Amino acid sequence: MQHVDSIDQAPLVCGPAERRHSVGVAVGAVQIGGDAPIVVQSMTNTDTADVAATVAQVAELKRAGSELVRVTVNTTEAAAAVPRIRDKLAQRGIEVPLIGDFHYNGHQLLASEPACAEALAKYRINPGNVGFGQKRDRQFAAIVEAAIANQKPVRIGVNWGSLDQSLLAKLMDENAARRRPWEAQAVVREALIRSAIDSALEAERIGLDRKRIVLSCKVSGVQDLIFVYRELARRSDHALHLGLTEAGMGSKGIVASSAAMAVLLQKGIGDTIRVSLTPEPGQARSAEVVVAQELLQSMGLRAFAPMVTACPGCGRTTSSFFQELAMRVTAHVRERMPQWRLTRPGAEDLSLAVMGCIVNGPGESRHAHIGISLPGTGESPAAPVFIDGEKRMTLRGEGITDEFLKIIDDYVDRRFGSNASE
Ligand code: SF4
Repeated sequence: MQHVDSIDQAPLVCGPAERRHSVGVAVGAVQIGGDAPIVVQSMTNTDTADVAATVAQVAELKRAGSELVRVTVNTTEAAAAVPRIRDKLAQRGIEVPLIGDFHYNGHQLLASEPACAEALAKYRINPGNVGFGQKRDRQFAAIVEAAIANQKPVRIGVNWGSLDQSLLAKLMDENAARRRPWEAQAVVREALIRSAIDSALEAERIGLDRKRIVLSCKVSGVQDLIFVYRELARRSDHALHLGLTEAGMGSKGIVASSAAMAVLLQKGIGDTIRVSLTPEPGQARSAEVVVAQELLQSMGLRAFAPMVTACPGCGRTTSSFFQELAMRVTAHVRERMPQWRLTRPGAEDLSLAVMGCIVNGPGESRHAHIGISLPGTGESPAAPVFIDGEKRMTLRGEGITDEFLKIIDDYVDRRFGSNASE
C-alpha cells in the first residue's frame, strides 16, 4: 500500500473532466454543444393536434425550466397544429424552441405542411424509421433537404427499439465471417453507433452543415448507453443528445437515467439531456425536467434552483413536521424560481438546509446559506436559524414554516435583488 506523507502529496482529483469538444448547433435561440452549457430538454405526451392541451403542457415544461420541448408530429393534423401552438405560446409570452419528432412520414409532412417545417426549431429523425431500401435513402434525403431549405438543424436520433435492420443484418453477416465473432450484443452496439455516424455523414454529403446536426443513440440499458456514447464521442465531434430511452417509472427511471448519464457527463460527454421518465398516474409531465436539472446541479455542472439539503430523519425525530417543512421549502423555491430567474439572477445558487435534530442540524445548517435545525424528540421546542454560517434567530411555535419561507424570500431580495450591494 502506498503511504502519503502529507496532504500536499495526496492525489486529490475531483470534478468532471473537461467537456468534450463538439460542434455547436443553434436551435432557435438555444445552443447545443460548442461552449454552451448542457441544455435540458423534454417532450410532451399530449396529442399534438390538440392545440390547447399541447400549449398548456409546453408551458408547464417551460415553466419548470425546459429549454427545448419536443412534440410528436405524426399526422397532417399534428403538423398543421404546430404553427398554431408556436403562435399561442408566443401570445402568452412563452418563447421555447419546439422540436418536431418524425417517424415514417416526416418527408411527406414537412413537404405538405410548410408552415410546420418553418415553425419548428429542429427536426428529429430516426434513421431506422425513415423507410426501407431505396425509399429509405430518398425519404431520408427529403427530410434533410427540407432542413436545408428551412435552415433548421436535425437530430439524427437512433434508438435500439427501431434500429436500421438492414444495417444490423449487414453487420451480423460481417461478424459471422470473423475468425472470432463478437457477441451479438457487441454487434448491436456497433450497429447503433454506425447508424448514427453514417447517417450524419450522409446528411452532410447531401449538404446539411455539421453545425446543424445533433446525434443520439438511445438504449435502455445503463452499460450499453455508457459504451455507445463513449464510442460516439470518440468517433465524432457532433453535438450529442444524451438520454436513456424507456427509463421507466419512479425511482427506477430516475436511478437508471442518473447512473448512466452521470458516468458520461463526468467524462465530459453530453451536450443536451432528456430524462425519459414514465409519469406515474397524476404526476406532472414536468417531473422529468426537475430530475434532469437536479442531475446536472447535483454534479455541479449547472444551477437551476436553490438546492435543499435535508437529513433522512431517524429515531431522534419522530414527528413528520420536519419532512413537511423540507417539502414546503423545496416546493416554495421551485415555485418562486421562474420569477427569480428574471428578477433575482443568482438565486439558483442558493443552498438551503432543513435538518431534523441537534446531532447534524447546526453543522449542516452552517454550511448552507440558510439552514434551520428543528428540535428532535426530547429537545426544547426551538429551531435555530443559521444565515451565512451564523446563528441569527430562533423560531418557535405554530408559524415556523411561514417565518422560515419569509426569511428565504427576504434573503433572496437582499442578496440578488436589483438593490443588492454585491
Ligand atoms: S440530523 Fe438528527 S434527525 Fe436527522 S438523521 Fe441526523 S440524527 Fe437523525
